[in-house]
Amino acid sequence: MKSAQLKDRFVVRLERGEEVMETLTAFLKEKNITAASVSGIGAVTDVTLMYYRLETKTYEEEQFTGEYEVLSLLGNVALKDGNPFAHLHITLGRDDYSTVGGHLAKATVSVTLELVLDVLDGTVARTPDEETGLALLDLHS
Ligand code: ZN
Repeated sequence: MKSAQLKDRFVVRLERGEEVMETLTAFLKEKNITAASVSGIGAVTDVTLMYYRLETKTYEEEQFTGEYEVLSLLGNVALKDGNPFAHLHITLGRDDYSTVGGHLAKATVSVTLELVLDVLDGTVARTPDEETGLALLDLHS
C-alpha cells in the first residue's frame, strides 16, 4: 500500500494481493483516523459481499470468485468499540458489463485500488441500535 497526504485528504493505492478491509483498517489505525469519507475505484477478486436482512437482524453472505472492476466504492469511517471502523459499499463490474454490489466484507486487490480518504475534523462513533440490530452512527439532533 502506498499513500500520500494532501492537506486533510489521503490518496491511497492498495496493491495486488492486498486484502482491502485489513489493509485499510491498519492504515486508519496507523494514521489515527476516527472520522472520514471514503471513495474508490480499481479492480478486485475473491470478494465477499453481505446483505442485511432486517427481519432476522442478520447479514447474509455471498462469495464472488471472479475478477471485477470496482466501479464504485463508497463509505465512511467512524469509531466502533473504540477502533476505527470502515463501513464500505461496493459496486462491481463483470466482463459482460453487468454489475453486482453490496456491503463489502472482504476483497483482494487484483490490479490496483485507488482510494481517497477525506478526513473529517473530529470523532464520530457507532453504537448498537436495538431496533435495527446494527451499530449506527451516534449523532445528536
Ligand atoms: Zn453496509
